[in-house]
Amino acid sequence: MPELPEVETVKNTLKKQLLGKKIKQIKILYDGIIATNISDFKKNIVNQEFIDIKRRGKFLIFELNDYYLVSHLRMEGKYFIKDFSSPILKHEHIIFYLDDVTLRYHDTRKFGKMYLVKKSRLYLDTPLVHLGLEPWDKELTIDYLKKHYSLNISVKTLLLNQDVIAGIGNIYADEILFRSNINPLKKGKDLTDKELKDIISNTQIILQEAIKMGGTTIRSYTSSLGVTGHFQDSLKVHNREGMKCPICNQAIKKIKVNGRGTYYCPTCQRNEVCI
Ligand SMILES: [Zn+2]
Repeated sequence: MPELPEVETVKNTLKKQLLGKKIKQIKILYDGIIATNISDFKKNIVNQEFIDIKRRGKFLIFELNDYYLVSHLRMEGKYFIKDFSSPILKHEHIIFYLDDVTLRYHDTRKFGKMYLVKKSRLYLDTPLVHLGLEPWDKELTIDYLKKHYSLNISVKTLLLNQDVIAGIGNIYADEILFRSNINPLKKGKDLTDKELKDIISNTQIILQEAIKMGGTTIRSYTSSLGVTGHFQDSLKVHNREGMKCPICNQAIKKIKVNGRGTYYCPTCQRNEVCI
């Protein structure tokens, strides 16, 4: 699933190609992607122009003249820009016909969602209403995390909660905890101030590094338009079961935490409370 750095990469790539272009026509081949009223969606999006593209958490926000088009790629959603004449592929579900090209939403799993809302309703009628802080928000402090993480829930699960910090998924949660020397099973309520501080700074550092490298390209994610990320070469634990920890040479272990495959080093990330 694309996480914050991958969505940021998609945003930057699309921005170069879409700004100033007008949506002349739209074809919706699979209604399930559209999460707001579908006839309003079809009617209101025509003649709207792409003014800007933003990101919040893992959401893409296309700013149009009178509306925001909010898009969540979920597991496999991708955007492609193609010529009018290019045949429509099986998994291309939404086709935006622009001035001179088409923008196509491609999704093999069909889990992605799009919302078209009046500008004033962005934080009222979309899932953005629940979203937590961006990793670089000044309000993301030890006290903020203490308030939201003081639970008997594993820190891995807490990091994935989009209502607290938005944008972290399975890959980066593993990397943030490794860099912070925290066991993924450690409970939120047991985290020390130093550990909370490390989570904040390592979240910022790792996501920033990943954005610089265009995100991580593994199984479920390749950016649109043939842009490939390179952060997979910098992963220290995620997807590296049995390989050597770069710090202590012990084998990386894989466990399940709340159903999610979780990679960590049992030596560097020892859990003094749970083990
Ligand atoms: Zn280690």
